[in-house]
Amino acid sequence: MAIVEGTLGPRVRWAFRDRVSGASLPPFDAGNLADHVGDDPAAVDANRTEFAAAVGVTRSHLVSMAPVHGNDVGEVDDPVSGPVPEVDALVTRVPGLALLVVAADCVPVLLGDSEAGVVGVVHAGWRGVRSDVVGTTLDAMRDLGARIDRTRAVVGPAICGLCYDVERERYDDVTAVAPEAASVAHGGRPGLDLRAAVVARLQGQGVATSLHLGCTYESEQLFSFRRDPRTGRHGGVVAWEAP
Ligand SMILES: [Zn+2]
Repeated sequence: MAIVEGTLGPRVRWAFRDRVSGASLPPFDAGNLADHVGDDPAAVDANRTEFAAAVGVTRSHLVSMAPVHGNDVGEVDDPVSGPVPEVDALVTRVPGLALLVVAADCVPVLLGDSEAGVVGVVHAGWRGVRSDVVGTTLDAMRDLGARIDRTRAVVGPAICGLCYDVERERYDDVTAVAPEAASVAHGGRPGLDLRAAVVARLQGQGVATSLHLGCTYESEQLFSFRRDPRTGRHGGVVAWEAP
C-alpha cells in the first residue's frame, strides 16, 4: 500500500492511499475501500482497518458515508458502524474520530481547522461541483466553530481535464457555475477539470490547499470508474486525534 500522509496542524492527521496491495480480489484489487461496489465485505473491512491504523484510529472509529452526488453534509457525533446515508460530505468535532471519503475519478477532499478541532471530508464529482458541495461543507464546518480562513485542505487524486471528456451540454452546465473546470480533453473535445474547480473554490474562501497524487484514469495504481466500470475505490481519511 502506498500512502501519502501529513497533518493539517496539531492533532489533525490525514492520509490518502492508492489501490496497490490489500485484501480485495480482481476487479477490486487490491486496496478497495468501498462497501457498495460488490466486493467481499471482509476484504473491504480488512483494507479499512489497515487504513484507519495509518492515521492512528481503530476501525470502529472510522466513519464512512454513502454518497449520492448531492450536496448534503452529515454531522458525525459518535462512532457509527454503517455508512452515513445520502450525504457527500461529513464533518465532526469529536476527538478520536476519523472520516473516510472514497472515490474513483471524483475528487476527494480532506479538511481541518486544528485550532477549532473541526474536520471534514468531501466527495465531489461533476454534480457536486455544480451544486457546490465544497461550499456547503465549509458552511457546516463554520457552524461547528471552524474559521474558514484558518482551515486547511488536501485534495486527492481525480480524473484530469485531459482525460475527462464530456458532452457539450454537461460542459456548459458545470462551467456556468464553476468556470475553472473548463478544459479541452484529448482529441479536442470539451473537458472538465474537476480538481481545478474544487481548488479554486477552496482558495477563493481562503483555504490553504495542497494537491496529492495524480490522474486516476492514467494511473494503474489508482481506481478509475471511467476506465473500468466495475472497479473499487481508493480513498482518503482525516482524523481529529484524541488529546
Ligand atoms: Zn488524465
